[in-house]
Amino acid sequence: MAQLNLKSQLETLVRLQEVDSQIYDLTEEKRAQPLEIEALKNAFEEKKKNLAAQEKGYLDAQKEKKDRELELQTQEENVKKLQTQLYQLKTNKEYSAMLGQINDAKADASTIEDRILESMDKIERSRSSVEEEKKKLQAEEGVFNAQKQKIEQRIKEIDDQLARLGVQRKEILPDIDKTIISQYERILKNREGLAIVAVKNNTCSGCNMLVPPQVINMIQMYERIITCEVCNRILFIPHE
Ligand SMILES: [Zn+2]
Repeated sequence: MAQLNLKSQLETLVRLQEVDSQIYDLTEEKRAQPLEIEALKNAFEEKKKNLAAQEKGYLDAQKEKKDRELELQTQEENVKKLQTQLYQLKTNKEYSAMLGQINDAKADASTIEDRILESMDKIERSRSSVEEEKKKLQAEEGVFNAQKQKIEQRIKEIDDQLARLGVQRKEILPDIDKTIISQYERILKNREGLAIVAVKNNTCSGCNMLVPPQVINMIQMYERIITCEVCNRILFIPHE
């Protein structure tokens, strides 16, 4: 009687393990979901930073152009001032020296003009980089939102499945002895959600270690629960 009883208890325990394995896998999967969202969010934030850097480059180029324009203005005023002084000069020598100075000042102004053109080029390039980066970010935002929605949907599915499995679990529990349940649950917790394993080809399918023949005999006597000497999981012999 006790023999038959333990055998059927183990069979029920195997059914419970099937449910618990699904619960374990789903719980693990659910645990990983927020990390996935976090990774997506970080990638997105990184692209935002890129855009901000491009926008700063654009503003810097504009400021540079403005500074150079002010510089040009000062230089042009300088040329004008020198030109008015030109007519106050008395000697040829002074006159040609001043002409030289004016030409130098004009050359400086022309250099500044070139640099303003460079600044304008830089602004144009920056502007198109910003536009491009904005487009990329927009696309990325679409991808991010779609992925996030998919993940949230999956979490909902998992929760539904877990609720169903919880009901199945509750239905099985009353059929198993409380002492056996508590031993099973202790192992479940310490052994990655796997507490009862089959012996296949004289091997524990939990840890793949050989199960000695005398242990296999003991399992088949169904006098008490036999655990693997290596991984400590409950052992059972499946039907052929
Ligand atoms: Zn084992």
